[in-house]
Amino acid sequence: MITGGGSGIGQAVALRFLEEGAAGVAVVGRTLDRLQRTVEAAGDRADRILPIAGDVRSADDMRRAVSETVRRFGRLDVLVPNAGIWDFNRSLTKTTPEEIAGIYDELFDINVKGYLLACSAAWPELVKTRGSIVMTLSNAAFYPAGGGPVYTAAKHAARGLVTQLAYELAPKVRVNGVAIGGLRTDLRGPSSAGMQERSIEAGFRKREARGDDARTNMWLPLHDASVDPADSTGPYVLLASRSNAGVITGAIVNADGGIGVRGF
Ligand code: NAD
Repeated sequence: MITGGGSGIGQAVALRFLEEGAAGVAVVGRTLDRLQRTVEAAGDRADRILPIAGDVRSADDMRRAVSETVRRFGRLDVLVPNAGIWDFNRSLTKTTPEEIAGIYDELFDINVKGYLLACSAAWPELVKTRGSIVMTLSNAAFYPAGGGPVYTAAKHAARGLVTQLAYELAPKVRVNGVAIGGLRTDLRGPSSAGMQERSIEAGFRKREARGDDARTNMWLPLHDASVDPADSTGPYVLLASRSNAGVITGAIVNADGGIGVRGF
């Protein structure tokens, strides 16, 4: 079950899990319209995708998502808390206290509480299957400049969830994370700051318009690290697989093109 599975890295992981032989993948997101895009992208495997409309900020929605998933597929092996928004690097010095409070409330509700509620609803099923949780983190879970203070703090908080839940849910459930880098997705901003229609995709279009190669991250040590979400799905497969990662919990794979060795 993948939250925010109607686009971006969530959709790419859903399709990759199917490719790897998953019996089924439930994708959870705010609207069925958007989730339908993942169903369509699955092509002849579409019948193995279960779209579930729900908001990750709602405990009821997360509980219902887990029970619908188990009703349809009989079990839950892997949870990917992934739905999120970005603050478009909105810095402290360019925001009033009221604005930063609005961004904080909305972003932490989705990016942190949303992860916690999905885990809270799913862990009893994961215990039954000795399953695992693989959270989408970010370069911002480790380094500055991947967002403003609110996004960076939220991704550090999600990193804390990996550590604490790996401890609490052992030995039955493994909990790990994938800290992806900048990807070409539809990542949006908080509506409280009027950024709900703004997408990270626009930045890539601008680079293209300037004549830069928008398929790559030229400022990274791995220059040709792809910005296509499909190319960042491998670590999710590894961490979800008990036969390959049965001894791994509380770990985070930095899959960001080497931002950390670039230095800050
Ligand atoms: P995306 O916008 O394509 O995917 C996020 C999905 O979450 C969307 O489908 C959106 O509708 C959904 N969503 C948002 N709020 C929701 C809510 N309240 N309830 C249910 N669904 C909700 O963007 P993405 O880049 O694929 O983002 C996925 C994750 O990747 C996020 O956690 C983001 O922080 C992280 N991330 C992205 C990048 C990047 O450069 N794109 C880099 C590092 C980390």
